[in-house]
Amino acid sequence: MTSRLLRQIPKTDNILSRPAIKAAQDHYPYAFVKATVQACLDDLREKALHDRIDTIPPMEAIEDTILSWLQAGHLNHLKRVINATGVVLHTNLGRAPLGEAAAAHLAELAKGYCNLEYDLENGKRGSRYAHVEKLLCELTGAEAAMVVNNNAGAVFLMLNTLAKGKKVAVSRGELVEIGGSFRIPEIMYESGAEMVEIGCTNKTHPRDYERAMDELGAEHIFKAYTSNFVINGFTESVSVAEMAKMAHERGGLVLFDQGSGFLFPPEAMGMHVGNLACAGLKDGADVVCFSGDKLLGSAQCGILLGKKEYIERIKKNQLTRMLRIDKLSLAVLEICLQFCRDPKLAQEKIPALRMLSMTEQECRFNAEQLCGMIREAIPTCDAKVISVKDEAGGGSMAGVLLDGAAVAMSFPSVTAERAETLLHLRELPVVARVSRDCLLLSVRTLFEEDLPEVVEAVRELYALPMGRER
Ligand SMILES: *Cc1c(COP(=O)(O)O)cnc(C)c1O
Repeated sequence: MTSRLLRQIPKTDNILSRPAIKAAQDHYPYAFVKATVQACLDDLREKALHDRIDTIPPMEAIEDTILSWLQAGHLNHLKRVINATGVVLHTNLGRAPLGEAAAAHLAELAKGYCNLEYDLENGKRGSRYAHVEKLLCELTGAEAAMVVNNNAGAVFLMLNTLAKGKKVAVSRGELVEIGGSFRIPEIMYESGAEMVEIGCTNKTHPRDYERAMDELGAEHIFKAYTSNFVINGFTESVSVAEMAKMAHERGGLVLFDQGSGFLFPPEAMGMHVGNLACAGLKDGADVVCFSGDKLLGSAQCGILLGKKEYIERIKKNQLTRMLRIDKLSLAVLEICLQFCRDPKLAQEKIPALRMLSMTEQECRFNAEQLCGMIREAIPTCDAKVISVKDEAGGGSMAGVLLDGAAVAMSFPSVTAERAETLLHLRELPVVARVSRDCLLLSVRTLFEEDLPEVVEAVRELYALPMGRER
């Protein structure tokens, strides 16, 4: 069956020689047309191999598809997907979605020139950091601030500038690996700081830091937020305030990789979990850094806050140039920071914040709506609303589960795992979850506009021919 279908797929050259496709070559480069034809045929082959079609469409229909793909610039590999996982800051799905207002501002800036490094008042060269520094200081109470490409870069730059060639005490309970490629020990090594490991995995005491500084030659203290794991049982750690007291008494600094944080108390959004991005600073750390696209819900970037003299030294580090933030991320960051002046506005305009603060009731309500739409489109579908645990994701709130709701269903001709895979192969992919042989569509991370497309995706799975799977 499958091999018969595969044999019916037309040849690239046959399609390229058809008049409509030939005519398209007046508007698009030949290589682009050819690649689009091949992509369309690959797509058919893929569908035939996975039993998603029963017949190969007629030549005219294939031609129409190719023409519409050409128009849509279909060959992009990086493309939009629908997130039905309930994981808000899904690192593999690009972390924070931007929302209308930030996206519109971004588009406006991207289309033309901007005053990135131009001081309009004085008609002179300006600093790209000036656009957000004041705002960051206003929102966090920091003396000075700067922004780089991402938080990994911020950690590296902080250590390289302030601790290169120096011994730095760090607790064994904080030697974390984040996302497979960011490991505290390696980053410290590369930055030129010498790590003095202290304490144990579960317990580190103030006396461990004192000993490191008094007897082992450590000058500074480094702290990393354990953003993607929790240690239960007998644990003990030292507060930032205690660290600051010990370090400052000995002329050292506390450098804190805070990972992630909100710019206002989470209670302002009705949430009772999550920390403040400036908490470490208020407790006495000299420099803190965190991601722009985790709990801030903004663009990929790393934010450094701290005492003016240290931030100025970081700005002067030659390596800053390699880690500098681009204008598009800066535009998004600035508008998100503007929103953060008012927690209610931030929650309304920054999708990640809205999603994180959704109550179980709101999730249920949305799930009932989606479930209703699915059952209306496919009356025989067994879709039902169930409770699920969602996550903040992105290593931002380890161990915190958010009460949410999902639509769960099974399919007559495919297993839930198979359905999950097929959803990834769509032109507009849907990323879902599977649990106990059911496909779960968690609504926390769905946008209102996604719902009709999700219903269509479920309908496609229902329309699959019977009896060939399982
Ligand atoms: C996420 C995280 C990082 C890395 O931040 P990126 O913005 O992904 O580069 C570093 N440290 C901690 C503690 C984190 O949680």
